[in-house]
Amino acid sequence: MSASQQAVMRSHRLTPEQVPETVVEQLAPVEREALVARIKRLLEQENATLVAHYYTDSALQELADATGGYVSDSLDMARFGSECPSDTLVVAGVRFMGETAKILNPEKRILMPDLGADCSLDIGCPPEEFSDFCDQHPDRTVVVYANTSAAVKARADWMVTSSIGLDVARHLTERGEKLLWAPDKHLGRYIQEQTGADMILWDGACVVHEAFKAEGLAALLQDHPGAKVLVHPESPAAVIEMADVVGSTTQLIQAVAELDADTFIVATDNGIFHRMRQAAPGKTLLEAPTGGRGATCVSCAHCPWMAMNGLRNLAAVLESGSNEIQVDPAIAERARVPIARLLEFARSHKREVLGNNDA
Ligand code: SF4
Repeated sequence: MSASQQAVMRSHRLTPEQVPETVVEQLAPVEREALVARIKRLLEQENATLVAHYYTDSALQELADATGGYVSDSLDMARFGSECPSDTLVVAGVRFMGETAKILNPEKRILMPDLGADCSLDIGCPPEEFSDFCDQHPDRTVVVYANTSAAVKARADWMVTSSIGLDVARHLTERGEKLLWAPDKHLGRYIQEQTGADMILWDGACVVHEAFKAEGLAALLQDHPGAKVLVHPESPAAVIEMADVVGSTTQLIQAVAELDADTFIVATDNGIFHRMRQAAPGKTLLEAPTGGRGATCVSCAHCPWMAMNGLRNLAAVLESGSNEIQVDPAIAERARVPIARLLEFARSHKREVLGNNDA
């Protein structure tokens, strides 16, 4: 982004006051067992399937696996939802994931354990302001990350995930198109650097990934010289520069399983460790430092909104049928266009669309 563009773009990064405390559900073993049994019964009774994101609590991921549900990144969760015969999908994740599931599966009932489970990227990209920004740059193709509201997607030409963003940017650049990117500026800059695309960037960031610090990472690497560094591209550039692998959630899980190393330092939400341990039992996983030595952090490598999903509220929504996701049909129709464009691009390029955080 040029200096003049930076001057007109106000920061859309959240202040610490806008970020809730990360509260992980604590359950005694007896209550946990009873809730799991109740949820299994309710899923069957309601002809419902649980789909959970990699960043949610391991209890939810285990439950999805045990009940024929699915654990993955957001778009893959939605695609699974389209293929599964259940009338109801319970999406354990954050709000934009529920909306994407509804957009792709309008005939299904989509429930979420907590409708307040938002995302800092989504919050930091208000649809009206974003639309004004697009209006100021009518010559640019509008490309948005999956981590946006349905209304923002409805204003976009393309939606991308972190695993396919590079391919789409190269494709559009080859066609001579200039891009307007939102909302994550770190991911946008990474795509820009890797592809040489002409991009202007919305000034948003993920509070979890932006907290990773290069200085603390360097110190941790000194203590673990053989470790491989795995980084999600929503992280700051200085952290990405230290990575052995930069990738989406699914790509980072694959890296742990495939790379010839015993120890990994992971710069993404620590909820992913559950899947990484399953993929590579016995390997050592370390959280990338979030605040540098002696400092505090806002999120401490765990998304406060993902943490709002728990067994108690999951059981409650299945029982009451509350917390149903609704998307205005006119917005859904428009938002389906950039999503469908991405799916078609992936099909024609024989690529799996894996891994928005993907978040
Ligand atoms: S971790 Fe994912 S869901 Fe949470 S704020 Fe960051 S991008 Fe949003």
